Amino acid sequence: MTAPEPQVLVVGGGLSGLSCAFELAERGVPVLLLEAGEVVGGRTASWSEDGMPVESGLHRFLGFFSALPRLLERAGVDVGRMLCWEDEVEIRVPDGGPAGILGMSPVHKPIRTIGGFVTNNDLLSPRDKLSLGPFFAAGLLDYRRRPDELDRQTVAAYAKAHRVTDRAMHNLLVPLTAGIFFIPPERFSAGIFFGLLAPAVPRAHQMRLGAYMGGMTEVMCAPIADAITERGGEVRTGARVEGLVVRDGVVAGVTVGGQPVDADHVVVATSIDPAQRLLRPAFADHPWFRPMLSLPTTPSVTVQLELDRPAMAVDRTVFGPGTALACFAEQSRTTFRHAEGRISIILTPPERFLTMEPDEILGVVYQDARRLGLDLDDHVVRFRVITLPHDFHSLEPGHLHLRPDQETPVRGLSLAGDYTRQHFMTTMEGAVISGQRAADAVLNGIGLT
Ligand SMILES: Cc1cc2nc3c(=O)[nH]c(=O)nc-3n(C[C@H](O)[C@H](O)[C@H](O)COP(=O)(O)OP(=O)(O)OC[C@H]3O[C@@H](n4cnc5c(N)ncnc54)[C@H](O)[C@@H]3O)c2cc1C
Repeated sequence: MTAPEPQVLVVGGGLSGLSCAFELAERGVPVLLLEAGEVVGGRTASWSEDGMPVESGLHRFLGFFSALPRLLERAGVDVGRMLCWEDEVEIRVPDGGPAGILGMSPVHKPIRTIGGFVTNNDLLSPRDKLSLGPFFAAGLLDYRRRPDELDRQTVAAYAKAHRVTDRAMHNLLVPLTAGIFFIPPERFSAGIFFGLLAPAVPRAHQMRLGAYMGGMTEVMCAPIADAITERGGEVRTGARVEGLVVRDGVVAGVTVGGQPVDADHVVVATSIDPAQRLLRPAFADHPWFRPMLSLPTTPSVTVQLELDRPAMAVDRTVFGPGTALACFAEQSRTTFRHAEGRISIILTPPERFLTMEPDEILGVVYQDARRLGLDLDDHVVRFRVITLPHDFHSLEPGHLHLRPDQETPVRGLSLAGDYTRQHFMTTMEGAVISGQRAADAVLNGIGLT
């Protein structure tokens, strides 16, 4: 007797695919998740790169996330043990410039959070701080009223129009743009910038910043995959989907290893570039898909170093505005405890590093680390460069409206992924929400709601 075909196929085992497959398995729907990589997690994966434990890039868990922690709790993950709440960030201006530590939790670090903003006058003078008020207030309002219009401007242009001082731009808005999503305010869409902030505002009291206590696949994604299996689903790694099987305009399965696998419904839960590759052959001329197929992508490049001693006295997130080190963190007491010292660095602008050799990249890192008062030379035991040529959809102006919904007009097909439309944009929370919405679309599609 042959096993019945799975009813739903989920393509991609990042947080969006895992969240979708979990919801379906929880509802008793036979689901098979196919992940191209050797481990689950996608951009929240950790793995061994030529013998060195690495991650796709430095990740921070935000205290106001709700869908992600709820999913984790339902999957049996103890979120308190999974995280170390660092609750502060540091901004270091290079070449002997000022540095400041800002608290990120009004409840758990009230003095640092409120005091950090009131003090740190070398970093941001009272005039700089005052200049930011109208900018944030207007931007959040404009995002609510006319997000697509806001998406036509850059953060820098919007800040200039609202008279933000140059120092506030450099010392705060650069960390909030390049530091978080790798591109500077001159290229960053004001629509996306305020879209990222908007969900945090009503939940500001819940704001916290957490680092992972272990590799993200190990402590977060593999346990979700296990929970899917326990609920009767199947998760297969090393299974790259090569194409969709489309019959009479209906998606009826996928091909893997040259073999067709039938399904009642397929959820494409990859990042934007592989989704476009899978969808283009069948839907290039379909008006619903045309906008998302024209959505450009943006890369990311991170450098991860093992050191013979910690580079910093505490594990916390640091921004280095005006250097290639957009954002970095010591991780030897949190995510990568096997090493004496361990630092993950996100580089900006990423395009500059795509064609550089690893040793050349390391040279730039040494040079800019010195400008930030970090002594890495002679302490690096080994390092890896992790490049994602198509990490996010482009965060430059003019693309917000191209993001698709999770439910498509094609029978048998839904989309999940951080590029699909939801309020948390390109974040882990956004990915989980997109997976849940795709699961709802599947349940509607197969008449199980
Ligand atoms: C450097 C970096 C730092 C970040 N920092 C943060 C942060 O601090 N906080 C935060 O909230 N978010 C952060 N993010 C964003 C967050 O990682 C993503 O938004 C989220 O993980 C996206 O999940 P996803 O499921 O949409 O996509 P992905 O994680 O990309 O998952 C897609 C999966 O599909 C698989 N796949 C692709 N093609 C195929 C195929 N043909 N067949 C089968 N499988 C396929 C891929 O291997 C991948 O596993 C960061 C991202 C990066 C890169």
